[in-house]
Amino acid sequence: METIRERLEEDLRSAVGRLRQMGGAVAVEEVPGAIGANSPFADEVDEIQANERREIGFATRELLVGRVNRLSAALDRLNDGEYGTCVECEEPISPARLQALPEVQTCVRCQDRIERLGRQSDQDEDEAETVSDDD
Ligand SMILES: [Zn+2]
Repeated sequence: METIRERLEEDLRSAVGRLRQMGGAVAVEEVPGAIGANSPFADEVDEIQANERREIGFATRELLVGRVNRLSAALDRLNDGEYGTCVECEEPISPARLQALPEVQTCVRCQDRIERLGRQSDQDEDEAETVSDDD
């Protein structure tokens, strides 16, 4: 049976591999470690696959970079003994959720809230990258 660490490492390798295939070498060390509190990531894999079928574009790349970010952050958290704790509310994340999405950093409740915020800013749908940092 695979450990969480193995899964994270494997996912990280495959995400980095995909980025490389896109022609942009990405050093994991260069990816900013901070993860925006408002980045929705549910169903991300489905999104990546759907985008790939259409075209490999900037948005896909951004998604992958985000994934690499989260996976490497999750490994860091594993090393620090903080893995499995919600970064928002510090409650434990349910094991089933971690099984399904090993890189998650938030519990279901916080994820829900974050997604709702994310959906709101997604409403002008042309420019996914136009997200203002400040309120
Ligand atoms: Zn939480």
